[in-house]
Amino acid sequence: MEKYRIMIIEDNPKNMKIMVDLMQVHGYETITAEDGMSGLETALKEKPDLILMDVQLPGIDGYEVTRRLKGKDATRDIPVVVVTSFAMKGEEARAKEVGAAGYISKPIDIHKLMDTVAEHLPGKDEQY
Ligand code: MN
Repeated sequence: MEKYRIMIIEDNPKNMKIMVDLMQVHGYETITAEDGMSGLETALKEKPDLILMDVQLPGIDGYEVTRRLKGKDATRDIPVVVVTSFAMKGEEARAKEVGAAGYISKPIDIHKLMDTVAEHLPGKDEQY
């Protein structure tokens, strides 16, 4: 069976490494981008199974990238999980508003992250 491909859009190298390692340890393939615009372009090209989306990114932010992905037929159905360091009220609502499937906050809780990823992967029922 083919591995799920998880795309990580994150500009902080440390956070990127943590998430890449975590995904790979759990048997997922990873695709990465370090800013909003290349994230958008790479997602359109690669069509990953799920995207982990940092909010604060150089160029266009993660909410705007999500909004644009949701506006295109090719990428509309890819679940996006927003990862934000803003521990503020309203961030979850904002994530929903742009069409994100889920939301987690930094510092990342590993179990919560993996549960959220598994929960939103397409066709997870057939996996078992
Ligand atoms: Mn960031």
